[in-house]
Parts: sequence; structure tokens; C-alpha cells
Amino acid sequence: MNKPVRLRFAPSPTGPLHIGGVRTALYNYFFAKNNGGKLLLRIEDTDQTRYVEGAENYIIDALSWCGIEFDESVIAGGKYGPYRQSERKDIYAEYAQKLVLNDWAYYAFDTADELEELRAKAEENKMAFTYNYDTRNGLKNSLRIGDEKSKEMLDSGLPYVIRFKMPENKEVIINDLIRGEVRVNTSALDDKILFKSDGMPTYHLANIVDDHLMEISHVIRGEEWLPSTPLHVLLYKAYGWEAPQFAHLPLLLKPQGSGKLSKRDGDKLGFPVFPTEWRNPETGEKSMGYREEGYFPEAFINMISLLGWHPSSDKEIFSKDELIAEFSLEKVNKSGARFDPEKAKWFNQHYLKETTDKKLAELFLPFLKEKGVNADIKIVEKIVSLVKERATFVKDFWEHSVFFFQPPQEYDTKTVKKRWKEETPNMISDLKELLLGIDNFSSTNTEEIVKLWIENSHLSMGEVMNAFRLCIVGAPQGPHLFDIIGVIGKNETIKRLENGIANIKI
Ligand code: GLU
Repeated sequence: MNKPVRLRFAPSPTGPLHIGGVRTALYNYFFAKNNGGKLLLRIEDTDQTRYVEGAENYIIDALSWCGIEFDESVIAGGKYGPYRQSERKDIYAEYAQKLVLNDWAYYAFDTADELEELRAKAEENKMAFTYNYDTRNGLKNSLRIGDEKSKEMLDSGLPYVIRFKMPENKEVIINDLIRGEVRVNTSALDDKILFKSDGMPTYHLANIVDDHLMEISHVIRGEEWLPSTPLHVLLYKAYGWEAPQFAHLPLLLKPQGSGKLSKRDGDKLGFPVFPTEWRNPETGEKSMGYREEGYFPEAFINMISLLGWHPSSDKEIFSKDELIAEFSLEKVNKSGARFDPEKAKWFNQHYLKETTDKKLAELFLPFLKEKGVNADIKIVEKIVSLVKERATFVKDFWEHSVFFFQPPQEYDTKTVKKRWKEETPNMISDLKELLLGIDNFSSTNTEEIVKLWIENSHLSMGEVMNAFRLCIVGAPQGPHLFDIIGVIGKNETIKRLENGIANIKI
């Protein structure tokens, strides 16, 4: 019988979650949902030296912003808990000892200084020191000193570690769901530490024990874990457990296309690499986040999902439900995916256009408040509908709509030079008189009347409209001019024409 589908996302709280981590979480989520399975969030915090305050909360908050729901987690609970490894501490010692008893692992007493010396010596001879089948018999461990002596050392409270006894010259075969068959010879691998005398397991042991106890069926994770997988496969074998199926995701590459996208690249290259803003608790330094930069979570996850996974058609816009329905590991690439910060903006622009004017107006209100503008939501809705085509983010609205809320503070010099002639004030004055006589100030009505007047007076459409726009907007851009005056109304329009006549100087 097939195992029920159960997946986990297992971050270590050593800092903020990088977009590569978000992608791993998303693919786990899509796969679990797509296969009617469950997804759990496990916090892998056994390495106390790398613990960073606030990182766990950051991860939980960022994943929730992305819309990734977990069936089991430190928050939601679940019957396989606890879901924080530091709270499962007591479980691992027993499993580590089991391996020693079955001759799959051994106690090692070498001090950090002794190992450092060996490393330095090897380096002098242009070699690398490895703790493995070849060197272990000459080192300070239970295999060499025997059980009795080793027990004495343990009883006397000497610091120790438990190392995996990596077999010599055996072939390990991994059937990766993305990469296919991967074969590794164990002679190339070292005797990894599984457990330390501080009572904590290392990542390898805790990860395998928990994946087994939590009945994980599929492990989807980053390519950087592929080199650890032979050890993991052997650990399953050592315990006599069935291993989950593995899928290793391709790397995310820098925008230039070469090299892994690192946590530091974002602030260096000017785009966020974190889902939400991160504040380093030690230095207070802030790193940009997609949320704070104004991205919609839907745009963000759509963009991330296509980094390494390609759908069957060339469609690019996917809702979360569509991603769940269409995702499959067969369509994940083996080679790295180049990250393109410009494409991220393209996605946001798309989602912005798709968002209702009502919602956009609500999102724009806090920005208006900051500018001291107290506007009616219905009017803001109308304004948003006129400028949204030009914006990538809600925060861009102000720049594209400032003239709806206040008269021009200055007039663009280049345009003045080009469009404001000696006879222009008179022409604008006539236009003002014309507008004063119009009661219905709707865009279509004013447009019809003004254009007819231009025609009948044998004026140049360009000349009138450019000067008119200069008075209303102060610059040569903006939405359809009659739409603008329709929103600001008759009084304000007249006032701006008067201001223009009085203040625009050639
Ligand atoms: N704790 C590991 C990490 O931080 C998990 C790796 C895995 O998924 O096995 O990425």
C-alpha cells in the first residue's frame, strides 16, 4: 500500500528565509495539496550556536504572508508534535545509541585542537584531512580504543561526539524524483557527526529521525542537500526504515546568471531577496522585503513558482489554486534558475491591474494620509482607476495622481518654453469663460464642448490642449485631461486656469 502523502518544510531559524527557501516551501505546499496530502512545518533548531533571535517568528510570519498553510506546526499543533526540534531533544539520544550498538556509529573523543592540528598538517602537504574509513583507526574513538576504555571515558564525563561509520567503497543509489538516479561511492564521504555531548543531535540525525517519526513520504528540498542524501539513505538503512522519496530543487542563480543567489545579493544589487523585511537583531541592520516594497503576495508567489518549474503551456499568470492544480515534480528543471528582479515587477504590475479599484483605493488611503490628504474613498477609487495602468506598486500612485489632490506647485520649464506663447494667456482666458458656462462637468460633456469650441474658433487642438494640461497638471503627462477635470471639478479647474494665467511666465 502506498504511504499517505505527508511533506514537511523544515527551516533552521538561523536568520530570515531567503526566496530560495520560500520556493522550497511553496513546492512542498503545491505537491502536498495536489496529492491530497498534508504539509507540516518543523523548526530545526538543534544547532544552538547558529540560533538567531526572532528568526522563527520571522519564518512563520513570512510563510503566512505568502499564503502557505500548514496542517501541522508549532502553531497549529498536530499529533506528530512537538514540531520544534529543541523540544524533541530527549528522543534523539536513544536513536544515536542504537546506531552505536549496531556498529553503524561510534564514539569519538578527539578534541577540537587535535582535529585542527591534523587539518593543518594535511594542508601543509596540500592534502585535506577527512575523518573516514581510512583515518578513523588512527584517531581517538571507540573503534580504536575499544568498548571498555571508551566506557571509562564516557563515565568520566569527557566530551564526545557520535560519528557515523561510513562504509568503505559501497555504492549508494538515490532515486531522485527530479534528477533521476544518482550514484555515490561511500569512500568519497566522511564520518559525519550525528550527536554531540551537549545532548543535541546534529541536523542529519534529527532530520532523519523526525522524518521517520512524522511519517514523511516525500522530501522536497534545495540542491545544497543532495551531498548529504547518501548519508541520509544509509541512516534509513541502518535503522531498517523505509526512506522517503527525495526531490532536490535546482539552485536559484544571480540575475547575471552565474553563481548562487545569496542572502547578501539583494541589498547589494538593489532588490529584495527576502519575502518580508528583516531586521538583524544584533546589528539593527534592515534588509528589504517584498511585502514592504509593495508587492502583492499573489504576485510574489506566482513569480517564485516559475523559478525552476515550467508549466505545460507558456502561460505565466497563475493563481495559487492553479499552481496547486498544475504543479508536478516532472516539470521541475535540473539546472539552476536565473532570478530576474525586473520580472518580479512585471508580475506585480499585472496583479495591480487585476485588483479592484475599491481595494486599490483602500490600499492607497494610508499613503494619502501620510501626505496630509483626506479624500473621499469614492473619489480615490475613480482616481485609482485612471492611474493604475501607469503604476507597478500602490506606492507609485501618489506620483501619478498628485495633481488630483493639489494644484501644480510649479510648472515644468521645458513644457513652458515649448507650449506657452505670448497669446496663450488670452486663449486660456477664453477657455476659462467657456468652462464657466458648463454645468455638467462630466468628462464626455466638457470634452465635446471644448473640442467644438476649438474647431469653431479655428484654434490649434495641440496648442490649446497642451497649455490647458500645463495649467491643470503642471507637466506634460497624466491621464486624459477631461477625466482629470471631471474629478477635480469646475471650481478647481477654473482656479488652476487663473493660476496658470497669473503665474506661468515665458
Ligand atoms: N533544516 C534544513 C534547512 O535549514 C532542512 C533541510 C531539509 O529539508 O532536509 O534547510
